[in-house]
Amino acid sequence: MPSGATLFALRGKVAIVTGGNGGIGLGMARGLAGAGACVAVAARNKEKSRTAVRELRSLGTEAVAVDVDVADERSVEAMVRETAAEFGRLDILVNNAGINIRKPADELALDEWRKVIDTNLTSAFLCARAAYPEMKRAGGGKIVNVGSILSIFGASFAPVYGASKGGVVQLTKSLAVAWAKDNIQVNAVLPGWIDTDLTRRARKDVAGLEERVLARTPAGRWGCSDDLCGIAVFLASAASDFLTGTAIPVDGGYSAMS
Ligand code: NAP
Repeated sequence: MPSGATLFALRGKVAIVTGGNGGIGLGMARGLAGAGACVAVAARNKEKSRTAVRELRSLGTEAVAVDVDVADERSVEAMVRETAAEFGRLDILVNNAGINIRKPADELALDEWRKVIDTNLTSAFLCARAAYPEMKRAGGGKIVNVGSILSIFGASFAPVYGASKGGVVQLTKSLAVAWAKDNIQVNAVLPGWIDTDLTRRARKDVAGLEERVLARTPAGRWGCSDDLCGIAVFLASAASDFLTGTAIPVDGGYSAMS
């Protein structure tokens, strides 16, 4: 019977966190680094990535910044190549990078639809496909896809975001079923309302959102990025070796509320 410390230890493991330079991605990266994993922070904003890498190194592990546009096939392949070259292997992929364009369907242009689908959903497919050979070589792996409570609920102001995040859950299940034979577990995390750059804009733009979220969330508060540390470590570690194809809300009870 392994001890708690062994179950959750990530020393010797290598992780890529897309969008790991801020918000939820950085929260998850902090969790992984704290458990001992080497982390590649993969995003576009170089300055933010440099700052995140400095912070992760201060936790006593190795971290590097990798420039990537997750919607671009070649860029994603280069991200996996660079990470494997730097650390010699790849064990954990967190597909976290994401955007939102808040418009009702009748006002949404096709290029806006495509941009959100490419960044939130196609990216998860591209990154997982690129990571797969490295994980097989390592004898197994962990893929953590970031969905949303809008993977479950509809929102009139975000049809394409909801469609992309619903797709993330279905992609999670298909990859989990396909790659279980390779000892690769694939799960999704569905964050509730978390205080990040993404939602700070929404809180400003959408009247009454702040209060509605507080009233609807049993925990009585917005989440913070570090609320995602624990689930990242769990889904990236041996503690979740028999768990695959799931979508776990981390939402202060939001999705349990009638
Ligand atoms: P955020 O602070 O805006 O972070 C988004 C991250 O994605 C940034 O690090 C950004 O880095 C990266 N990114 C965006 N487009 C990219 C691209 N094309 N290529 C590479 N990286 C890209 O937002 P967040 O709230 O932390 O969101 C993180 C994830 O959680 C998203 O998938 C979001 O949908 C999901 N989520 C958030 C909430 C919430 O309440 N905050 C709730 C549910 C789900 P660069 O700009 O440097 O590239």
